[in-house]
Amino acid sequence: MNILVINAGSSSLKYQFIKIEEEKVLAKGLCERIGIEGSKLTLKVPGKDDYVVEKHMDDHSVAISMVIDALTDKEHGVIADMKEIDAVGHRVVHGGEIFACSVVIDEKVKEALHVCSDLAPLHNPANIIGIEACEKAMPGVPQVGVFDTAFHQTMPKKAYMYALPYELYTKHKIRRYGFHGTSHRFVSERAAAMLGKPLEELKIITCHLGNGSSIAAVDCGKSVDTSMGFTPLAGVPMGTRSGDIDPAIVTFLMEKENLSAKEVNDLMNKQSGVFGISELSSDFRDLEGSKDTNEKSALALEMFAYGVTKYIGAYAAAMGGVDAIVFTAGVGENTALTRGQIVEKLGFMGIKIDPELNKIRGEEKDISAPDATVRTLVIPTNEELMIAKDTAMLVK
Ligand code: ADP
Repeated sequence: MNILVINAGSSSLKYQFIKIEEEKVLAKGLCERIGIEGSKLTLKVPGKDDYVVEKHMDDHSVAISMVIDALTDKEHGVIADMKEIDAVGHRVVHGGEIFACSVVIDEKVKEALHVCSDLAPLHNPANIIGIEACEKAMPGVPQVGVFDTAFHQTMPKKAYMYALPYELYTKHKIRRYGFHGTSHRFVSERAAAMLGKPLEELKIITCHLGNGSSIAAVDCGKSVDTSMGFTPLAGVPMGTRSGDIDPAIVTFLMEKENLSAKEVNDLMNKQSGVFGISELSSDFRDLEGSKDTNEKSALALEMFAYGVTKYIGAYAAAMGGVDAIVFTAGVGENTALTRGQIVEKLGFMGIKIDPELNKIRGEEKDISAPDATVRTLVIPTNEELMIAKDTAMLVK
């Protein structure tokens, strides 16, 4: 069974084409600048040169048609006919309280997706456009929605409620949702496999540390708490997002700097995090490279690691123990320095890593020290594979 995985943004569309039985990526690529001058499609097929098509894409429907054309291209493609696309799996950012697992998309589901758009006005509309473009280009091919928020729907009420007037939850659905759920689910399942134990018997803290970062407490395979909240702005400091701050700073800034709601929102989302502190870069490679000469880069790295350390302590307490810590995503998979800084003070909990093993980059590895009582694992995430698996399971 061949699954096309789609991650549609407002002006871009990432795709992977996966043969599910072998968990093999047959092709992947990106459509950029959809609806903007200079649009182009890239197709990457293992063992072949990249295929690039520079052609204007008016909208996502054109982009999807170009993806199908590329996949079926005689010279550069991987299939002879679009009939070999058995189903499409879509990454959808927000499923609200409606979707606690992946679903086959029908008219009712689409209506519900529109309802969830209020909660993710930048992302969900683009995801819906991607779904409709696929329906148009591939009529009759089943489509599945896989939600970033779904995995965290198991959080207990005490973890997802904010201590605001209760009626704001009823009226506006203001609560913690959490994101990166597909990644937290994927790596917690992999962690159980690596440890050779049933997921249902493990307490795992998964640290998805990328441009956006979130930590999750996964107890017996269920997310019981996570650091992102109503939006992906909450939690640890990120590339350009502030993470948790005293909420009173928002109104203080609006008054003192005469900022509008949108301006203060942009400041916290785009000008803050390790970028805001270092005044240099949101990329951890730049921060590592400059930390010895730039105090602010060093401070940004320390603040990030300190933020993650505190969440690990908090989630171990929330679960009444922890069996394994998982590091994943760009920073978690690649940055030995940051992993080292995060666990430095956690020896008292039995979390200790081997400095040699910690040098690993982008590979699945148990990096625990011999005397550690809690395992520390590096696990590359694979959200596309998880989406493809859910899609295959639901359409079978
Ligand atoms: P996104 O949230 O955009 O999916 P990623 O998970 O790709 O982000 O992570 C991106 C970040 O990971 C980059 O900004 C960079 O800081 C970090 N990163 C990626 N590769 C490396 C590497 N080899 N060494 C250090 N940091 C890396």
